[in-house]
Amino acid sequence: MKDSALWHRRAFIKNMGYSLFALAIPFSLTANNNLYKMKYKKIYDIIIVGGSYSGLAAAMTLGRALKKVLVIDSGMPCNRQTPFSHNFLTNDGKTPSQIRATAYEQVRIYPSIEFFEGLAIKGTESGLGFAITVDSGETFEAGKVIFATGISDMLPEVEGLSECWGISVIHCPYCHGYEYKHEKTGILGNADKAFETAMLISNWTNDLSIFTNGTASFTPEQRDRLNKHGVNVIEKQVHKLEHTGGHLSRIIFTDGSGYSLKALYAPPPFEQHCKIPMELGCEMTEDGYIKTDSSFETTKKGLYAIGDNASKMRTVANAVAMGTAAGMLISKKMIVDAF
Ligand SMILES: Cc1cc2nc3c(=O)[nH]c(=O)nc-3n(C[C@H](O)[C@H](O)[C@H](O)COP(=O)(O)OP(=O)(O)OC[C@H]3O[C@@H](n4cnc5c(N)ncnc54)[C@H](O)[C@@H]3O)c2cc1C
Repeated sequence: MKDSALWHRRAFIKNMGYSLFALAIPFSLTANNNLYKMKYKKIYDIIIVGGSYSGLAAAMTLGRALKKVLVIDSGMPCNRQTPFSHNFLTNDGKTPSQIRATAYEQVRIYPSIEFFEGLAIKGTESGLGFAITVDSGETFEAGKVIFATGISDMLPEVEGLSECWGISVIHCPYCHGYEYKHEKTGILGNADKAFETAMLISNWTNDLSIFTNGTASFTPEQRDRLNKHGVNVIEKQVHKLEHTGGHLSRIIFTDGSGYSLKALYAPPPFEQHCKIPMELGCEMTEDGYIKTDSSFETTKKGLYAIGDNASKMRTVANAVAMGTAAGMLISKKMIVDAF
């Protein structure tokens, strides 16, 4: 939430700057030029819903290709609670808000890009292509819409878990495993998924336990391999996580006993953060991602999806790569079509 507040403060300062500028101009000039009312153009080449890593990367590429772009963003990226972001070259160890702030600073210098801070609530087909309505009631139109809207994690309802999410309860060893190497580590899960996570995490620590939160359901072969690698399986019912400021100290069971831990892997199920692509008829994959072709176009012509909403490779680097590639492919198609 802190990150979101920072993001909004930045937009507020920017908007205040515009307001002071408008006040400083004589009334007749603002009335004639309609400067203040023209803040949003209403019609764009491309609307990007979602202005985090993938959305801003696409915006930069499209802005540099002179396309008129509107970026609509509600300021809720999925990694907002994590203290440090890792494994993105040139930005390793920065806070998520630092990376986004730098991205925003670099994208906003391109004059054909505009930003709307708020939630896109509806999408419809229009004469021009698509119309996107935002929570202020305004509607914007474009020939193409890119959804860079991410996913929402559906965290298990264990007391203390959401406070630790992204800090000591983690989803991915490539993002945060190094920081917990050789530490006492747990996996919250069961069956094949927990077994596969255990195989992977055994690379970072050999002090590993799986908390199945009830009867374990591993195959005999999986059991043998877990035993062979010294992975404990604890079947007690989980009650809560003890932590200080999100830093885990113990997992507590319903029988009152506890187990000391530094980190817990708990990759949760997810849902799409934004439902508009489905409402517009985009097909989904079996795993819950938006289906796209190699040019990031969904099954609905003119609608595109990039970043976490369309890819299992959940990293900032991948989101940025998808955004840049989509920006290049979409602008190239527009240029060639118009030639
Ligand atoms: C806890 C956690 C820690 C992580 N740590 C790392 C790490 O250390 N290193 C790493 O590389 N990756 C990390 N990741 C993964 C990384 O954060 C994601 O891969 C990346 O944020 C994906 O970017 P994105 O642009 O696709 O989506 P997001 O960053 O999730 O952004 C989606 C944006 O779309 C906006 N949005 C959604 N719906 C609407 C709507 N209807 N209207 C307007 N705006 C909308 C949201 O507000 C948000 O700003 C982490 C993820 C999590 C959950």
